[in-house]
Amino acid sequence: MQQPVQPGETTPSRIRERLTQVQERLSTFARTCERDPVDIQLIAVSKTRPAEEIRVAFEAGQRAFGENYLQEALPKIRELADLPIEWHFIGRIQSNKTRDIAARFHWVHALASAKHARRLSEQRPGELPPLQVCIQVNISGEASKGGVAPEETAELARLVATLPRLRLRGLMTMPPAGSSEAEQHRIFGALRTLRDQLNAEEGLELDSLSMGMSGDMEAAVCEGATMVRIGTAIFGPRQ
Ligand SMILES: *Cc1c(COP(=O)(O)O)cnc(C)c1O
Repeated sequence: MQQPVQPGETTPSRIRERLTQVQERLSTFARTCERDPVDIQLIAVSKTRPAEEIRVAFEAGQRAFGENYLQEALPKIRELADLPIEWHFIGRIQSNKTRDIAARFHWVHALASAKHARRLSEQRPGELPPLQVCIQVNISGEASKGGVAPEETAELARLVATLPRLRLRGLMTMPPAGSSEAEQHRIFGALRTLRDQLNAEEGLELDSLSMGMSGDMEAAVCEGATMVRIGTAIFGPRQ
């Protein structure tokens, strides 16, 4: 007997529908803010979601997926090895996990320490291109948030830029949960200003701003996000 579909359950057609909705909303926000939608990459955050759901989104055209937890991500990456997925590690980095992150992912979004930067560079397999990296910046100053303080960002950026197996691409941030729209704009705008400052003062060429989740993607797009990390709006609420 077929299982009845619960309200809110994520069926393949719901995933396809939600993915299309998110793409359309991103395009609308981009045009409203006079940006070209092709300059904003959608990263589908698939934490807690099974490999089958990632496959459904892939078949609907989604290519980049974000995972937070290495133990959860590795079996999914293995199971989906037949697909040319671009894997983004968006979670907090732990020292004992850097080897697998360096070997299995294309991007890391939340780099926040010199030690992790050195390890990732040393452990990036020689046959792979350099690991693409964003530094996480704690703009809001919340104690519970990962990331480096804005005034410490230049020092870490200078180090990462010298590491042979990393390619520093940009900055990432998250506003506190429940931030007002005005607060979201202030935080995302501050990240963009910091990126521009590093490029002007440190001679860096950071082209990426990883900012924007399901609840704050409009503000992020308007403030210059080049990558948005969207989970709930595509796959539905997590358990
Ligand atoms: C979970 C998560 C997201 C996605 O959040 P949603 O609100 O589900 O879109 C984005 N970035 C990071 C770092 C996350 O942990």
